Amino acid sequence: MTEIDYYELLEVARDSDKGTIKKAYRKMAMKYHPDKNPDDNEAEEKFKAVNEAYQVLSDEEKRAIYDRYGKAGLEGHGQGGRGFSGGFDDLSSIFEEMFGGSGFGGFGSSSRRERKNYNYNLDIAIELTVEFNEAIFGAKKEIKYSYKNACNDCKGTGAKNGKLNTCPHCEGHGQIHMRQGFMTFAQTCPHCSGTGQTVTSKCNTCSGTGYDEVKETFEVSIPEGVNDGNRIRISNKGNVAPDGTRGDLYLQIRVKEDSHYVRHDDDIYLEVPIFFTQVALGATIKIPGLRGELELKIPAGTKDKEQFKFHGEGVKSVQGYGKGDLIVQIKINYPTSLNNEQKELLEKLQESFGLESKPHESNLEGMFDKVKKWFS
Ligand SMILES: [Zn+2]
Ligand SMILES: [Zn+2]
Repeated sequence: MTEIDYYELLEVARDSDKGTIKKAYRKMAMKYHPDKNPDDNEAEEKFKAVNEAYQVLSDEEKRAIYDRYGKAGLEGHGQGGRGFSGGFDDLSSIFEEMFGGSGFGGFGSSSRRERKNYNYNLDIAIELTVEFNEAIFGAKKEIKYSYKNACNDCKGTGAKNGKLNTCPHCEGHGQIHMRQGFMTFAQTCPHCSGTGQTVTSKCNTCSGTGYDEVKETFEVSIPEGVNDGNRIRISNKGNVAPDGTRGDLYLQIRVKEDSHYVRHDDDIYLEVPIFFTQVALGATIKIPGLRGELELKIPAGTKDKEQFKFHGEGVKSVQGYGKGDLIVQIKINYPTSLNNEQKELLEKLQESFGLESKPHESNLEGMFDKVKKWFS
């Protein structure tokens, strides 16, 4: 799936200001306006794409996300999971604003087939594993990968001298039709994979693949706060088409887990073991925060699994929403064995509490007699 760059679509520079983008949008929207281009599928697609591009680039927040992560970054970002593919209502409201409310119709579903005469996608996706701390604080990583460069001799077709023949199976339509009763089904031609063309003799230079594999190594800055599952787009590092167009490279981020910290979005969880005497007496202890030591005050009477929150001590949001929290959860530890002295001390302590140390007696008072009566 190749995605057209929004800036290229509006024919503006990446650092253009709002005014320039708006002007470029008006120009493009006029040019591809469906009323001006009746029954022109290509113009219709362009018109939709231009509107989509403007929706993103005219919104500062969306534009920032797009610059960093591409279209993928915007999907599911407060869009109710619908992304931009179904933004038809927004489209018509922009349309009305620009053209004074004249209606437009005839936007059929896009069934037009993109014919390309090379058989690979321009965008590449690779997985990049980063350490837990690298994801939180950002890091420079070396990327080693290989991309496809269209074979010059066959112009990416894989056919000798670039000569392709019409597929005899589908007669060049790219689709075959199957009849079943009164129904007809269209199916992508399996012989030419829908291109409508076949190779009779292979190109010797690339052995018929249509491309050379080129190895590349470069360094990339992973931004502070990335999380597992994020995708980072690096434009113009993808495969190269015969006409020189280059796709993008997507880095699918995988973050290694830490043995102590647990990350949930931008919040960090940490379990802190406390000795039972510390919760009885109350204590102030030092705990390791992400950015250094923090002081945790444990009030007397703190319960097991109780949580304490350090605001803003979590991960800095990669999308610029501030910092998450550090949440500390208490785990009370009890001694597993006691020496004689400790036993004596604890027994003394228990005695000093008197009735308070026998909560079950007051709580279950009367139950012993009650149960006895049931069987008498
Ligand atoms: Zn065919
Ligand atoms: Zn070739």
